Amino acid sequence: MSRMPDGVAREAVIDVAAIEHNVRHLKALIGTEVIAVVKADGYGHGAERSARAALRGGADRIAVADIPEALALRAAGVDAPLLAWLHAPNTSFGEAAAANLELGVSSLDQLQAAAAASNGRPVGIHLKVETGLGRNGIAPAEYGTVFAEAARLEAAGLVEVIGVFSHLSNTTPDDDRAALSRFTVAVAGAESAGLRPRLRHIAASHAAIDMPAARLNCVRLGVSIYGLSPFADRSSADLGLRPAMTLRGAVAAVRRVPAGHGVSYGYLHRTASESTLALISLGYADGVPRAASGGGPVSIDGRTFLVAGRIAMDQFVVDVGDANVAVGDEAVLFGDPATGVPSASAWADAAGTINYEIVTRIGPRVPRREVGA
Ligand SMILES: *Cc1c(COP(=O)(O)O)cnc(C)c1O
Repeated sequence: MSRMPDGVAREAVIDVAAIEHNVRHLKALIGTEVIAVVKADGYGHGAERSARAALRGGADRIAVADIPEALALRAAGVDAPLLAWLHAPNTSFGEAAAANLELGVSSLDQLQAAAAASNGRPVGIHLKVETGLGRNGIAPAEYGTVFAEAARLEAAGLVEVIGVFSHLSNTTPDDDRAALSRFTVAVAGAESAGLRPRLRHIAASHAAIDMPAARLNCVRLGVSIYGLSPFADRSSADLGLRPAMTLRGAVAAVRRVPAGHGVSYGYLHRTASESTLALISLGYADGVPRAASGGGPVSIDGRTFLVAGRIAMDQFVVDVGDANVAVGDEAVLFGDPATGVPSASAWADAAGTINYEIVTRIGPRVPRREVGA
């Protein structure tokens, strides 16, 4: 019987050795430069520890979505090449340039703002081109103007075009092949404007693993470095990955009840016979999805039960029948299924979402405890 440490109601255990292993394994498999994506606090795992573990595993650069995330990493002492690609409207890039960030540039305005932030050295940029996803990025009709302006600003020493990139929709292999061929056209356009971008990157985890033609000379890996599979039909173990996050809570109370006893708001669950109810100190305020009420799996003492009834803000109940469960026992919601506990993907299925969201939404009330350093 595993016990929680005294005084600990809940925690997410983050195995940084798993992140390091995953990056090393993926880099060997894919064979290109690797950008490790640690946006959204490292998909809930902690951005700084995830970045450091990824760099130990051989990542060539780090990326986040926005500049505040990147500045926080710089403030924490992460000095690796660091890219941010999603900017607030009318951001002036002075702070970013001073911190030597690389900027994703999706428009002529952003290109000019990046050049304006140059202060003695060129601002490193990656031109983001739109190839079908319908999000940001330079549109094909603007390629000519923006590439020519980038070449002019590069010659003036104000920017350095380090890369050209785009993002795939993972809709069908045909859709991704069409986007990749649009990307090839964009890169050729940049080159004919006189640019020599060293890096070309379009693949995130899904295509990096599954679509060798999309690997080019660099990939951006997010979910897979945390050990989670981007595929519905392949597990972490199938891909040689080790899930890095284990979410666990303490059994806070146990109660023996008669048959027909209601459980939690709305009595969505009633005991079928005399039974033991175990209360777990994790709720939707912690990011446990309320949509998984009645369906999320929980492992206690090597047995997997389902959440009984509604998940509340701070707690939920497991109906453990006649199992011998005591206050202070450990209840694991998800972790590495190779150890016999449920996967983040099982919670995603129960909540009607994807494993990405399950780990990323784990909230600040859940302390992270790092292991494997
Ligand atoms: C989040 C993100 C990634 C990482 O995607 P994964 O599927 O988690 O590997 C890569 N590129 C962009 C543009 C992203 O927004």
